[in-house]
Amino acid sequence: MKKLSVIAWNENVHEQVNKVVKEIYPGGIHNAIAEGLRNQDGDGLLEVSTATLQEPEHGLTAERLEDTDVLFWWGHRAHNEVVDAIVDRVQERVLQGMGLVVLHSGHFSKIFKRLMGTSCGLKWREAGERERLWVTNPGHPIVRGLGDCIELEHTEMYGEPFGIPVPDEQVFISWFEGGEVFRSGCCWHRGNGKIFYFRPGHETYPIYHNGQIHQILYNAALWAAPQGAWSGVMNAPNVPVEHAREKIRRKGESLHAEGEEGFK
Ligand code: ZN
Repeated sequence: MKKLSVIAWNENVHEQVNKVVKEIYPGGIHNAIAEGLRNQDGDGLLEVSTATLQEPEHGLTAERLEDTDVLFWWGHRAHNEVVDAIVDRVQERVLQGMGLVVLHSGHFSKIFKRLMGTSCGLKWREAGERERLWVTNPGHPIVRGLGDCIELEHTEMYGEPFGIPVPDEQVFISWFEGGEVFRSGCCWHRGNGKIFYFRPGHETYPIYHNGQIHQILYNAALWAAPQGAWSGVMNAPNVPVEHAREKIRRKGESLHAEGEEGFK
């Protein structure tokens, strides 16, 4: 069986300029995520690679994305440096069927806001407080192997209201030491693609070295895998009268000539 092709994408900026982040993630957040996925993959189901903002076309060429089944996205400081043409390309692949896992501050990434169509705003606080992620849907594939909840000793707080469309499936809700709550694990379908937003992952805490987080990311990769491919998802073909499945004749006037392309 062909392995699932997974890319861990990271803007890779904090690691270059911030001492704390560099110490926690000397190889970059993308490599910590990739390693975590590989550590979980005893069954050898995934082929995991990485990509960063700094690579040509952000490491996301059309050819590479064409072969990608699931894309993980970590961004924060450099959302606006992601070229719009690449956002278009990722969106099209999601609509065709590629899975997308958006992490932590990726809530404000261009691709997530595009796919959600809402503000994606939230409240936040950087105080190293405790977070308890409650599983809201114990039968869901993304929580396979977890108990009732997981605890993270030091996290950044994200609080409601979270400016997202109502999720198709809710997987986690977080409680924070300071009292706020947050919808930390949410699933949507867009076109043929599955999207999972997962909240933990602040860059000054070693979240991506945590085995339970690795388990969730691994589960998410398997859940988001394409169920099929809708390669022509962006098309809107004009079906000529003579190609109708049943024999018909034109009964009304039309704006377009027979077989002419529509406006896009
Ligand atoms: Zn953060």
